[in-house]
Amino acid sequence: MARNKIWLSAPHMGGSEQEYIQEAFDTNWITSMGSNLIFFEQRLENYLGSGHVAALNSGTAAIHLGLILLGVEVGDVVLCQSMTFAASANPILYLGATPVFIDSEIETWNLCPIALEEAIIEIIAKGKKPKVIIAVHLYGIPYKIDAVRSIADKYEIPILEDSAEALGSSYKGQQCGTFGDVAVFSFNGSKIITTSGGGAIVTRSLALKNKAVFLATQAKDNAPHYQHSEIGYNYRMSNICAGIGRGQMEVLEQRIALRREMHDFYVDLFANIEEVKVFSVPNSDYFANYWLTAILIAPDVVKGIDREVLRLAFEKADIESRPLWKPMHLQPIFCDYPYYGENIAESLFRDGLCLPSGSNLTNEDRSRIQAVVFELFGQ
Ligand SMILES: *Cc1c(COP(=O)(O)O)cnc(C)c1O
Repeated sequence: MARNKIWLSAPHMGGSEQEYIQEAFDTNWITSMGSNLIFFEQRLENYLGSGHVAALNSGTAAIHLGLILLGVEVGDVVLCQSMTFAASANPILYLGATPVFIDSEIETWNLCPIALEEAIIEIIAKGKKPKVIIAVHLYGIPYKIDAVRSIADKYEIPILEDSAEALGSSYKGQQCGTFGDVAVFSFNGSKIITTSGGGAIVTRSLALKNKAVFLATQAKDNAPHYQHSEIGYNYRMSNICAGIGRGQMEVLEQRIALRREMHDFYVDLFANIEEVKVFSVPNSDYFANYWLTAILIAPDVVKGIDREVLRLAFEKADIESRPLWKPMHLQPIFCDYPYYGENIAESLFRDGLCLPSGSNLTNEDRSRIQAVVFELFGQ
């Protein structure tokens, strides 16, 4: 009998999404206005506790508009965490700005404050002040919020908080998505909740939210004809997709609890396997949604096991796992841009693996995962 494939992170519907889509059909609010959009944005704002939310059609679009709202123009320097998904960095190039990549530190795998400040000092010395810092909460673990914020404030550089993977994570009781001068979320199919495809931008003022919506809907001036004084984009979320998001918000807390259970499962699974460390928050200031559970495998020359051996063993058993994000400064498209750091991101990429972490994994799935691990490491 064919086994089902176990995915890294699959969509997990809650049940009421279709009702809200039906409501959009019934009222014929099918495109970029309607009650699903209003409710979805409101639910997100209530959940975050502060900030104004505009729903967009992707997280990438949110980063693009975020950089525009923070004033990034052709030739500007934008500092960006190297260890991230390419969507954090691509919008820098859309704007003709120059990315400068910053290493990770080992506790949260996010922006290294030391490398960040070193880069800022050196770039300022060359006569160009960086325009924005893009900080990411990788795999749902918050970056070193206090350290990064104090550097940003010291040099007066705004933070674009890439919270795409971190809806539901928090730091000292404050939600991720409320720390940046602008923040973004993604609701693509693999994220903790999904709108099939979508994203959101979080701003600190209603005026800035309205500006984001204006830019996202083709920057139409107030006139009876179509008149434009600024470059517009077609980035608004549809009322259909927002219906999915509205339904997903009702189960967000459950999804977070289930992802965190998967993380607990892996902590137990690897408890007696010395070569493997499960990536976890450094202390109780940090609360992670554990969107993906990731591990580091110390390459074992005696047993011949490394992250690729484990990945292939999973693959043979129809279980998807994936190396960590390959750092941006090692990517063919970005390797000619400056990089500051000590190659921490590079070693994380060499030894790190993301494991199936979906909120809809079953006990049977967990048994299959456990069997592969026990067979390889011997238990
Ligand atoms: C998913 C993701 C994005 C992009 O979001 P999309 O909705 O897929 O465009 C950006 N940054 C990070 C860190 C992500 O994981």
